[in-house]
Amino acid sequence: MVKRATCHDCGTKEGQLHILGCDMERCPFCGNQLISCQCVYKKLRIDVSPGAWAYSHGLTDAQQKDWEKLLGDKGRIPFVLYPNLCAKCGTLWPEMFLVPDAEWKHYIEPQMQREMLCKACYKQVKAVSLRKAFQRIMGELTLEAKSSALAALASLKVPESQTRN
Ligand SMILES: [Zn+2]
Ligand SMILES: [Zn+2]
Ligand SMILES: [Zn+2]
Repeated sequence: MVKRATCHDCGTKEGQLHILGCDMERCPFCGNQLISCQCVYKKLRIDVSPGAWAYSHGLTDAQQKDWEKLLGDKGRIPFVLYPNLCAKCGTLWPEMFLVPDAEWKHYIEPQMQREMLCKACYKQVKAVSLRKAFQRIMGELTLEAKSSALAALASLKVPESQTRN
């Protein structure tokens, strides 16, 4: 059974158009958020540089009408709810958690940085990355330094399974 979702911003039902001005509507020209993209100014050739009339006044009623016609001709994008899911294990609507930007970029490979991960998968990816870094460091050590590092690790009583590989 398919449940029809409701837009949390404008209240429209899935499959229908948002109310114009809804912050969830996508622009049919560029795919970005309709209320914040620049297509209206590009398409209507409106100058919005600082100091220009439109910069401080926004669209005139006539321009707004022209824009709505352009949107209509192009075909506005109806509301369809695409669920968030973990890009790794596929869990639907994973619990959100915060990772500092720098940390995220450090551990997540570039082409995956815009994806969403659940907490468990993030931990796993981070562990893989840490293990690689650890191996790289160990690879650069002299035999002597390596054995004293391993001895130091052993004295920390880290379980074998976490230090192997
Ligand atoms: Zn909406
Ligand atoms: Zn656009
Ligand atoms: Zn996951």
